[in-house]
Amino acid sequence: MQTTRMTKQRALILEELRNTTSHPTADEIYSMVRARLPHISLGTVYRNLELLAESDQVLKLEYAGFQKRFDGNTMPHAHVRCERCGKVADVMGAVPHAEIPAGIDVPPGFKVTSARVEFFGLCKECQQEPMN
Ligand code: ZN
Ligand code: MN
Repeated sequence: MQTTRMTKQRALILEELRNTTSHPTADEIYSMVRARLPHISLGTVYRNLELLAESDQVLKLEYAGFQKRFDGNTMPHAHVRCERCGKVADVMGAVPHAEIPAGIDVPPGFKVTSARVEFFGLCKECQQEPMN
């Protein structure tokens, strides 16, 4: 049985995520946490990230074709993702909730209660590299 108790490992992962705005991947979080818990395994990091996401303590950002990223900031906010390297950054300002457009064709039986705005583009580094 999986315990839902906050383990020391999980607390440390959460702390690292809350202290960064880089939206790291699981591999990056593994490197960050390993600096303090040298014997932690990648599997343990993955499992704890999933548990933290399931319990809404962190956000899991999933984009097709890119590694999942994690965010320790669970306040509503929008993101911009680089379409080339997958880097994710916060978008500040009044854009956390999208308007639900009038006249959208909602499937029968559904009531739409929210929508999400996502931004896509190129990060600073990728803008400086020639397109291949
Ligand atoms: Zn980029
Ligand atoms: Mn964020």
